[in-house]
Amino acid sequence: MEPRPSDAPAARPPCRALFTDRDGTLNPDLHYLKEAERLELFRGVRGAVAMAHRHGFVVICVTNQSGIERGLYTREDVERIHHRLNELLRPGGAEVDAFYYCPHAPERRCACRKPGTLLFEEARRDWNIDFATSAFVGDRRLDVEAGHRLGLLTALVPDPNRAAQTAAEFAKGDLLPDLVAATFESAVARVLARG
Ligand SMILES: [Mg+2]
Ligand SMILES: [Zn+2]
Repeated sequence: MEPRPSDAPAARPPCRALFTDRDGTLNPDLHYLKEAERLELFRGVRGAVAMAHRHGFVVICVTNQSGIERGLYTREDVERIHHRLNELLRPGGAEVDAFYYCPHAPERRCACRKPGTLLFEEARRDWNIDFATSAFVGDRRLDVEAGHRLGLLTALVPDPNRAAQTAAEFAKGDLLPDLVAATFESAVARVLARG
């Protein structure tokens, strides 16, 4: 028998994921947030993440952080924010299982910046995720676009502070989310209700 290469990933059973955007979805978008202490969660997020876990979803955050390449903050700042985000979630009994972020500016036209799908593909490999039974919640068109490309159920939670821009982004009508919800919590409840 061939010995298994020592670097082969452990076989995980297939799972479904609740993918989520970060800024404007889990927390108010403070625009190039650098200081973890300023992070706040939207009301209901803590309970919703725990509810997704109880329903057997892994919770994976995929976020564009072009502020890194723009020199506005560092990877360490972003990782502190993610650590803080999980500290804020923990009293609800569940955390984000993994964070994947794109550090590039849009001009680079990388494959990892949403609506690019590279980070989702990485997560799929790392967690053995079944996209067909997974969902993505986000506040912008680029979130819906990424989810749509991958065959995920797409849920839009429009940021009330940029309602006009969001409406304009979808005005062409060529791309629509599977569902629109007023809050992350209600988006998650509706995703879970679909079974
Ligand atoms: Mg966002
Ligand atoms: Zn990138």
